[in-house]
Amino acid sequence: MTASRRTIIPRADHPISRSNLSDNAVRVLYRLRDHGYLAFLVGGCLRDLLLGREPKDFDIATSATPAQVKKLFRNCRLVGRRFRLAHLHFRDEILEVATFRSASPAEDDPGEGAEVGGRGPRIVKDDGGMILRDNLFGTPEEDARRRDFTVNALCYNIADFSLIDYVGGLDDLNRGIIRTIGDPVLRFVEDPVRMLRAVRFAALLGFEIEPATWEALVSSSPLCANASPPRLYEELLKLFLSGEGESCYQLLRRSGLFAALLPGVNSWLETETDGFPHVRFGRALEIIDRRVSGGEPLAPPLLLALLFGEYLEERAVSLRKGKVSPQEALDSAVARFVEELAPTVQIPHKVALALRGILTGRRRFAETPGRRPLTFTSRPGFEEVLCYLRLTAELSEEATSLLQWWERYLAGNPPPPLAPRDEAAEEGTPRRRRRNRRRRGPPAGPLPSP
Ligand code: ATP
Ligand code: MG
Repeated sequence: MTASRRTIIPRADHPISRSNLSDNAVRVLYRLRDHGYLAFLVGGCLRDLLLGREPKDFDIATSATPAQVKKLFRNCRLVGRRFRLAHLHFRDEILEVATFRSASPAEDDPGEGAEVGGRGPRIVKDDGGMILRDNLFGTPEEDARRRDFTVNALCYNIADFSLIDYVGGLDDLNRGIIRTIGDPVLRFVEDPVRMLRAVRFAALLGFEIEPATWEALVSSSPLCANASPPRLYEELLKLFLSGEGESCYQLLRRSGLFAALLPGVNSWLETETDGFPHVRFGRALEIIDRRVSGGEPLAPPLLLALLFGEYLEERAVSLRKGKVSPQEALDSAVARFVEELAPTVQIPHKVALALRGILTGRRRFAETPGRRPLTFTSRPGFEEVLCYLRLTAELSEEATSLLQWWERYLAGNPPPPLAPRDEAAEEGTPRRRRRNRRRRGPPAGPLPSP
């Protein structure tokens, strides 16, 4: 185990006051302390408070075991299969209380702080060194050292209101550096999702990734495909919805993470269509960043439509052969996209359906003027499609004029119908006559209804 570099910063020398913390968190910390346990605030909330940012959540680490925590708090639920955690439910927040954990059996040196009663199952890694299970209880120092980055490993001790820094996190925070705790290659092999977290924190905080950490990230980027696809999906959402999605995207592309996670989209971005590079991805991220920074939420299907809409529409055009209708081609483009991504990024079925719904609605926007717009506006999901059209209006002139038509129509002042788009002329295929004007059922695509 690396020699301890523990630094204790007394209350008088740091700016974190109890009034900055959630009242619930302070009460929980006190209660644990009053029952003789160590009780620390840990992780990202301290990083954020020291940077003057509002923490997303307050995490607590303690020497009490999950069962002991449960005994103390009536609002406690134990959760987690990989490691047991206590969730304390309050009216407006859930606090996570975790027992101090150790990183590996080799680091069993008790170090500073109280020994925790009872040891859980030991750490389990796969043949490649990836951590599968690691619920080994440990000391506060071990708990700090198993965290991902130095800036995420600070602790606040309720016993004397001091800050404890075991890994040089304060220095890195002051200098704006993201650095793994310990050997970066090893830490990324153990949990490849940490590479995406490094990118997110660097972009969000405007920090530099320390050279050895960056080098390891670039060389290990293909490994991120080993992480669990649902987790990678969640982490990608966090990156693109961070408000700094554009910076995240640049780092993802430069590091090779983007190619590892989204190989098909990456190859497409590297080619040109009709002599034009695909710049919409980056421009869509600027729009997304503006919206998120303005505090407006963006649902995942809308995010995916903004990012991948152009890619999917192009693929749909290339899938239009013979008797395949534009709708069938779009359905199959979405279904193939979801299937191709599945080994790395698992888009939930419901989100995939909603994504397909938005792109289908977008097609109808172009076709509907002049053809019973009322039936379209009363459909479920119309608002979401309209939002998509609004957000993409600045990406193309066609979208801008369509949006203008629709805005006027919706304002109760329907303009004369636009000439319906001539798809046949656009796509070079003979136009099929619609014999039956009644709406058909959903086309038989590989995406079944839930
Ligand atoms: P935010 O909540 O703002 O996204 P955070 O740093 O609080 O950022 P969480 O996911 O809430 O991130 O995790 C809380 C803490 O748990 C982190 O600060 C870090 O110390 C630790 N942690 C989270 N994920 C990992 C990981 N994959 N490997 C090691 N430590 C981790
Ligand atoms: Mg957090």
